[in-house]
Amino acid sequence: MKHISVAVDGPAGAGKSSVSKAVAKDMGYTYIDTGAMYRAAALFAIENGIDIRGERAALIIRLDEIKIALKNENGAQRVYLNGKDVSERIRQEDVSVGASDVAVIPEVRVKLVAMQREMAKTDDVIMDGRDICSTVLPDAQVKIFLTASVDARAKRRYDELTAKGVECDYEKLKKDIEYRDKNDSEREMSPLKKADDAALLDTTDLTFDEAVERVKELIRDVL
Ligand code: C5P
Repeated sequence: MKHISVAVDGPAGAGKSSVSKAVAKDMGYTYIDTGAMYRAAALFAIENGIDIRGERAALIIRLDEIKIALKNENGAQRVYLNGKDVSERIRQEDVSVGASDVAVIPEVRVKLVAMQREMAKTDDVIMDGRDICSTVLPDAQVKIFLTASVDARAKRRYDELTAKGVECDYEKLKKDIEYRDKNDSEREMSPLKKADDAALLDTTDLTFDEAVERVKELIRDVL
């Protein structure tokens, strides 16, 4: 039997991962966070002192040394880089910006896209990212572009971090989001853009539960 694939794309901070995670739990699908994989690649560069913007070649030469694993542990997804659990570290702001920088490198994308396609072969999945509808899973049965205004996204990120006790600056978070939007939309390979056949879901004025319900409706409509 063919596995079900749900593809969710959208800009930074739109709520793709939290919404996708909740939908995966309710519907029994495996959630795959492709952004975490770009983040892990960025962390490899940071930990090895590679300046991603200035020394692309130095990173490309070492791509085979980057081993990423996504594991489900007690219902939560954990991210491993070369055997080390980096799930918390990759959420920090330096890695967020670094991820957007490694994601413009075609060699990195080729490697990660191949891994992502393999993952979708064996399970029913909901996978989120920037290029899932168009490139990673163009045959997905359900395709969604989840977005929200820049202000709503920066505010959610701010609330999320402060709730965790992380000190942060709203204007800086907003600037980082704008930087990533521009970087992600203007890169040559697989730029962030809504696929023609994806449903548009703007969550600016939706609560979290409403967004989850809308995604589930979109899935039910298609299946
Ligand atoms: O989704 P998240 O914010 O964790 O992604 C981090 C970065 O990884 C994004 O800003 C984007 O540049 C990149 N990314 C990508 N393609 C994907 C997933 C993430 O280019 N499928």
